[in-house]
Amino acid sequence: MPSDPIATGQPAPRDRGEPGATGASASRPVAFFTDRFVLPLPERHRFPMLKYRRLRERLLADGVLRADDLAEPPAASDEQLALVHTTDYLRRVREGRLDAGEIRRIGFPWSPELVERSRRSVGATLAAARRALEGPPRLAVNLAGGTHHAFPGRGEGFCVFNDVAVAIRVLQGEGAIVRALVVDCDVHQGNGTASIFEHDDSVFTLSLHGRRNFPLLKERSDLDVELEDGVGDEQYLDALARALDVALSPSRPPPDLAIYLAGADPYRGDRLGRLDLSAAGLERRDRLVVRRLVGVGVPIVVTMAGGYSPDPGAVEELSAIHANTVRVALEIATASAPRRAPRGGAAKAP
Ligand SMILES: [Zn+2]
Repeated sequence: MPSDPIATGQPAPRDRGEPGATGASASRPVAFFTDRFVLPLPERHRFPMLKYRRLRERLLADGVLRADDLAEPPAASDEQLALVHTTDYLRRVREGRLDAGEIRRIGFPWSPELVERSRRSVGATLAAARRALEGPPRLAVNLAGGTHHAFPGRGEGFCVFNDVAVAIRVLQGEGAIVRALVVDCDVHQGNGTASIFEHDDSVFTLSLHGRRNFPLLKERSDLDVELEDGVGDEQYLDALARALDVALSPSRPPPDLAIYLAGADPYRGDRLGRLDLSAAGLERRDRLVVRRLVGVGVPIVVTMAGGYSPDPGAVEELSAIHANTVRVALEIATASAPRRAPRGGAAKAP
């Protein structure tokens, strides 16, 4: 497969007059976006494709990000994807030979754009992880990602490739990290991620999710916190704080990288969520997670994960929740970063 021309993906459409990656004016993006890789969906499809573009626009309009804080990542290669996914599955995804049942489980019609978008989404999480490891700030964001329902040989729940697992495997393979922590606060269990790392002590998987929500058959994370329908802010935050105590226990070797899936779908207005968190509660959640991770000094990747509006008009509300996550996370990480290396300036190790 290495000689396959599609293996490296198409060239990233980055030449938009942005500063290059060399020289004193080099941009040092902290957020990676893939929203220009949209896939054709039937009308009234419930996946809110538009929210990703609106999220990026909102972050720019609100001044959370400047243009040179943003970059489009390269696509993940077949070699990188094959660190997690089976070669048979990769080949069938690439060639559009998934059967009707597999397509139904994924929830998207197959198209070349689906393949490219899925590759880019993995690429964005990997790029964000590299950026977080490099620091400062030791936090970077994928403005999509969190495709935690993808297994080595199958996809489901709008997830084709598992971005989190591939990023971890690539970085482990390069010797950039040994241990990783996954904090999955999407309202649905990170079943693919849990399964991939179930017998791997180097990766601790924590998932907080609705007990009665999709997927009905749960996998085993290192720590699963199951929540009943209708759980609200206080109960959720208590459970999360206790789970983080376990995940970050001093008795465990500290992780070299943490990946936070900041799903917007525990929100009370979410179409698929079934929990009752307020927007303020979600912000407290984000603060709790990022502060705790920053507190132990681990580089952090934030991915957006799920969030489903009841109607197309509510995409504004949804993108606002995701945008707030990005704002809060960068605010905390930047406040904790050494002041002497301003963003956009020359790279200096702390
Ligand atoms: Zn979800």
